[in-house]
Amino acid sequence: MGHFFRLSFRLYILFLFVFLSLFFSSKVTLASTIRIGGFDSPRNDFPFNDEDSIVSNLEDPSKFGIGGVVSCGVEFKPFVQEIAPGSLVSNGVRTLDVFIAGSVGYEYPEYRALSTAEAVELALFVEKGGIVYISDTNYVDESPSVNTFFEALGVVDRFSPDVDYLSFLGESYQPIETRVTKGPFGLVGNLTHGDFRVFSVSSFTPVAKGFETIGGIITMALGESEADFGENYVLHEMAYGDGYISVSGMPLYIPFLGSGADEDNVKYFLNLVSLACKAPSSVFVPFLDLPWDYQGKGMTFSQAALSINSYFDHEYPLLSIGMSEPISAQGSATIYKGLFRTSLDYSSHDGYDYGKSAQTKEGTPVLAAASGCAYYKDPKYQCGDKTCARAYGNAVLINHDGAGEGFQTRYYHLQDGSMITTNTDPAQCVQVTKGQQIGKVGHTGNVSPTGEAGSHIHFMVI
Ligand SMILES: [Zn+2]
Repeated sequence: MGHFFRLSFRLYILFLFVFLSLFFSSKVTLASTIRIGGFDSPRNDFPFNDEDSIVSNLEDPSKFGIGGVVSCGVEFKPFVQEIAPGSLVSNGVRTLDVFIAGSVGYEYPEYRALSTAEAVELALFVEKGGIVYISDTNYVDESPSVNTFFEALGVVDRFSPDVDYLSFLGESYQPIETRVTKGPFGLVGNLTHGDFRVFSVSSFTPVAKGFETIGGIITMALGESEADFGENYVLHEMAYGDGYISVSGMPLYIPFLGSGADEDNVKYFLNLVSLACKAPSSVFVPFLDLPWDYQGKGMTFSQAALSINSYFDHEYPLLSIGMSEPISAQGSATIYKGLFRTSLDYSSHDGYDYGKSAQTKEGTPVLAAASGCAYYKDPKYQCGDKTCARAYGNAVLINHDGAGEGFQTRYYHLQDGSMITTNTDPAQCVQVTKGQQIGKVGHTGNVSPTGEAGSHIHFMVI
């Protein structure tokens, strides 16, 4: 009876959960959807949400969606006439992922410049991880209209009164490689553009110089501008907070060529919007390899990766960097398949142990999982009047660069005397390449069983 009751109760909870999920699912925005908003016409001369080639590409499921180049869908939210306080970030949470501020401001009052309150909200949006595209107008007889945004960001970059003026279209020089110009839709080439307002760059990175050629011929200035024609950049970018900003001296999404925007201009916006996709992309390549020569032992990556002696306890992933597990949780672990804890002896374990089943043993070379800079973590410390040892034994830590920038890998229990460095100062780290030997498998620190039989690599990523 008791069992039956418990079972029924669980089923009830399950059904309740399924029911609630169905009920709420229409209102929940999935993390894999990129929400795009922006300024609408007439405040934005050429609203981004119009049916042009950029919008049709964004709505193409082979480009954005499950199985597309970028595995996030796109959802257009209402484009607005003004940014109200709290409309982009409400209670600390973003309501959008991308905001196309476009070209605000014009000589008529209804096409007004970006107000300070709007600029503050937009800056907060970027700080919270939003992506902003903003351009000034290219009208010679008008003042810059979006400088309030740069004031709100606290940078000294500003649009100038000067416009690089040309009577028809030009092309930029080849943009430099950035997270956007070298995005999932490929390298962006010369951008089609017209007259553009000059931007004085300090914190932003200049990305593409304006006006290289028209049809292969170097263009000439028409003399209306005080700007230094041919030397100014039309496009600039900056990572800011958790977000990203793209700035141009005129809107680069205008359908210049009748049927739609230039192919490279379209590609630029597809790559820019892609920054908001946090789901793994179909072109995603892992930056880490496993830290020993598993192929030399006849194992594939997935065979080796899963030949784990002791798993990672998922509930407390930050134990190595100062977080500690409450006593009540000791002796249990959370496995990757779910939230349920079972009694497992790898409680509070913050890495993966690769030993016998992964064909590593005392003396097997330990290899850098990716390129970076290696330093040593000393297991010995003074406790009272004697020297004590920490559980990790000899440890090498690598701060990664390139695709792994911001990540650190750690390799514990290394054999005495085998480490590539014993300098504990990260500032004096040793540069290593992916696959380079950084030590040998050993049994220093706490291993089980004790002695050589317990030799393994404790591998972790922070
Ligand atoms: Zn371990």
